[in-house]
Parts: sequence; structure tokens; C-alpha cells
Amino acid sequence: MTGGGWAIQEVASRVWVATARKYTTTTTIVAGEDGGCLLVDPAVSVADLAALAGWLAAHALRPMVGWSTHPHWDHLLWSAALGDAPRYATPRAVAVAAREEAGLIEGVTDGAPGHDLTLFARVTALTGREIGWPGPRAVVLAHDAHAPGHGAVFLPDSGVLIAGDMCSDIEIPLPDLGTANPFRDYREGLGLLAGAAGVEVVVPGHGHVGDGPEFRRRVAADLAYLDAVAAGADIADGRLTQEWLRTEHARALTRARAGAGAPDEDGGRSGTLPGA
Ligand SMILES: [Zn+2]
Repeated sequence: MTGGGWAIQEVASRVWVATARKYTTTTTIVAGEDGGCLLVDPAVSVADLAALAGWLAAHALRPMVGWSTHPHWDHLLWSAALGDAPRYATPRAVAVAAREEAGLIEGVTDGAPGHDLTLFARVTALTGREIGWPGPRAVVLAHDAHAPGHGAVFLPDSGVLIAGDMCSDIEIPLPDLGTANPFRDYREGLGLLAGAAGVEVVVPGHGHVGDGPEFRRRVAADLAYLDAVAAGADIADGRLTQEWLRTEHARALTRARAGAGAPDEDGGRSGTLPGA
């Protein structure tokens, strides 16, 4: 189904990924029992969320629980038409979303204006390592790559890894340069994802869904990228196709060459970047 730049595909049994034209942003829907569903990172424009709500209604699905992978504005959205399901994120992500709310709202008003901001970033800290709900097991893989408290979701029954803003075919790794050890943190987070047993489908927050071999190819590409940049060496990565990505690449190189313990003075800015 397509329309208005919005498309949806079933990537595993009763797991769907909707893709918005804007930033190639994905939303994941996991069907549970009795018409309930787990909704991960609904995004991104007002029209996209309306299309999503319409699709869910047409398929007799209603959000029973929401998950936000990380505290960047385009992963904290919601709309009234999606209902009032509880929405969760890792404790660290919830704390960052609260602390940086003003900047995140600026990201929404600049990037996808018109949302009901009273519903924005209304996330609760999930305690425990799984999203408890009447549906397929949903294991949270929490780390600090890309953003503090980034929580990927792995569905062991179907092998679907909802990676958040990692493992993309169209974006280079984007470490959080505002932290003390951005490259180390990123490697650790990537290692956690790579260690998930039985990944058969990878869903990046921005980009295209891939199969198991493609997941491993992306992990290897990301490690190669990180190895080079952390050593202060430039690398020709095929994903450096957009100006903002080249800018982020240059910032990462500058940071690496400055050495550890020198947080980027522009730290936190990635919260308002396009497609990050
Ligand atoms: Zn992000």
C-alpha cells in the first residue's frame, strides 16, 4: 500500500514496517493478541501519522503499547488518532527527553510542524529488559550509541531487529559526539546488536529493511567506518551522499583527531538533525 509518500510492507509474520518519504523514516507495527499492537517510533509528518492510524484501523489493530527507540525528536512522536496506549523508552532516554524537551520540540516545529505537542515525548521509563505485553516477546537492547539510552527492540520469535538509528543502508554511523567516549560507546552498542542471536530482518530507523546477510554486511561496514574515523582517518563510505551526512562525518573526524575527553562543543545538536 502506498499513498502520499507513505508505504507499508509486511517484513515477517504480522510485523509491518511503514516508511515515510521524509528522511526515509520507518515505523514498526507488531501485532499481538486481541487486535492489540506494539507500535515503535511512529513517524514522521502529521500526514504520515494520519495514514498510519488509518491503516491500523483498516486492519483492526489498535496500539496497545508504544516504544520510543531513542530521545531524538523524530522518534518521540504520537497522535490522538493512535489512542492513549502507554509509551515507553529506556530510563536514560526518558531522562534525556525530559531534560532536552525544549530543543526536541524545536526539532518538531522545524522538521514536521503541526503535531499535537501535548502528546510529544510522553514516554515512561521501562524497567526490565523486555516490553511486557500480550504479544510476541520484545527484548530491549539498551546502549549509548547514537543517543543516550538508545533501546533497540529484538523480536526473537521472528528474528526482527528494530535497530533504531543504527544499521542503516543510507546513513553512516552517527555517534553522539556530545559524550565523553562517542566511538567506544558506538562500538559497544553495535556489538550488542551484532550479538543478538538469529537476526533475520533488520529495520533501521532511516533506510531500508534488510535480511540477515544484509544485517551482517551493515555491521561490518559500520565497524570499518568506526575503525577509520576513530583513528582520525578519512574513509570513502558509499553512504556519504548528502550534505548533512558529510557535515556529520567531518565533525566526527574533528572530534576523533581532538582525542578522547574532548566533548564536541556542539554536543546534543544531533537531536535536531534531519533524519537522525
Ligand atoms: Zn536519531
